[in-house]
Amino acid sequence: MGMQKFVIPKNLTKALHFIGGTRINLGSYNPTFDVFEPRNGQVLATVEEGKRSDIEEAAQAALGAQEKWALVSPAERGMILRRVSDIIRHNVDDISVWEVRDNGKPISEAKADILSCADTFDYFSGVDLNGEHIPLADVDERFAYTRREPLGVVGCIGAWNFPMQTASWKIAPAIACGNAVVYKPSPLAPVSAVILAHILHHVGVPDGLLNVVQGGAHTGAAICQSRAISKVSFTGSVVTGKIIAQNAASDFVKPVTLELGGKSSCIIFEDSNIELAVTGAMMANFFSQGQVCSNASKVLVHKSILEPFTKALVERTSEMIIGDPLNESTRIGATISAEHLEKVKGYIDGAVEEGAHLIHGGNRAVVNGLPNGYFLEPCILSNITPQMKVYKDEIFGSVLLIIPFDTDEEALRIANDTTFGLAAGIFTNNLSKAHGFARKIRAGNVYINTFNDVSPYVPFGGYNQSGYGRENGKAAVEHYTQYKSIFVNASNKLENPF
Ligand code: NAD
Repeated sequence: MGMQKFVIPKNLTKALHFIGGTRINLGSYNPTFDVFEPRNGQVLATVEEGKRSDIEEAAQAALGAQEKWALVSPAERGMILRRVSDIIRHNVDDISVWEVRDNGKPISEAKADILSCADTFDYFSGVDLNGEHIPLADVDERFAYTRREPLGVVGCIGAWNFPMQTASWKIAPAIACGNAVVYKPSPLAPVSAVILAHILHHVGVPDGLLNVVQGGAHTGAAICQSRAISKVSFTGSVVTGKIIAQNAASDFVKPVTLELGGKSSCIIFEDSNIELAVTGAMMANFFSQGQVCSNASKVLVHKSILEPFTKALVERTSEMIIGDPLNESTRIGATISAEHLEKVKGYIDGAVEEGAHLIHGGNRAVVNGLPNGYFLEPCILSNITPQMKVYKDEIFGSVLLIIPFDTDEEALRIANDTTFGLAAGIFTNNLSKAHGFARKIRAGNVYINTFNDVSPYVPFGGYNQSGYGRENGKAAVEHYTQYKSIFVNASNKLENPF
């Protein structure tokens, strides 16, 4: 049987909720919020905020769908997930345009993000849900076996910096493991999750398997507190993560996955290839206007190569094209919101007041034809001290701090001088140094002679305040299934212990 071609709906600025298999508007009494298009500062959509009753409706739809979905064999689920990835690949250009309008990142990056979502559905289509057989005593035919069972309905709360990728990292493993989902995107970038819901609907999953309810903190809190929802998967800030964990235990306890912020370092050792290290430092800071959780704003450079490194970095950063993110040649697009741009600019200005040297960028940029877009030049600062706010806080913008070091011990101390623990980078040609540092750094993700790589095959997540639980890889399955252990006595005999 041939499948009808999937077509992205034209109007994705209204009725952005997807409950029980249908796009809907919520009640006229729901409060609304505006979504702005970062590239031009115009209102893209006005969206109703989901109330507790809307979350309950979505959770009930999900419960019904989950019962049906759990009966679908893993092989059949896998086939359905692969159809999802095919459709994503076929529609990468159109989906990317929506992602850019919603988020502001350059379209070249958006395309890579969207293709990685297809890879994620592919990976989880083949996920291993096998249980174990555990022999106990052969003589009287005793053994145990384990089943990996779905949790039920998973509530997912997303961030705005990688809208479709965040959604896919949660939805693909959740449904591959037999769960249904209630997804709340960030109110700053609500569209691509709706596209994903359309795609899942198109490939024929039960109505209600993926529900999208838009909203902010209230809607998110309702997800955490709903008795119909058995698990919460969250991506966002540490401050919100703490509230999520509290709310997820306020009535019924439920497991939580927290993918939180970071404050990472990238260490450039004296023997590294400078061109490669400059590329790495840029990859660690300038994707998605610097709004990347695993970014390493602290770039630690060995004193012996500080001068050539800095010179090359400034040269190459000044070549990056700031422009309309819908243009293929653009490398720096628009910041997510006017408020966030002010926040990042505030960090830069504050650092300069505290004595940092501004060696490149850091000003608002004006892009031809888009005078109201939220554009900011990528920024490089030096003369950083540990007392500065930029040294301690997650900036979440394109602000690269050059921090010179002398000894390996000093580099390690600065890299670990944070309460976060999401990522770290090491540039060196010395094998034992690279792997020694990889072991000693307290972070969930370490990059050697590269930075910010992701793969659905590889677990991703944080140490310390950067959260707990892992997304991607086999590790993700642990967080979307629960073990059931079954003890069996097949001997027809049972000794009376009394
Ligand atoms: P945020 O914490 O402000 O919001 C995240 C989500 O939580 C949004 O959907 C928001 O509406 C919702 N929310 C807010 N208050 C809530 C509440 N009380 N209860 C339930 N939900 C609530 O974060 P943000 O500004 O959207 O994203 C930026 C942060 O996310 C940064 O700190 C970044 O490092 C982090 N992040 C982490 C990862 C990761 O994988 N570790 C990935 C991307 C972003």
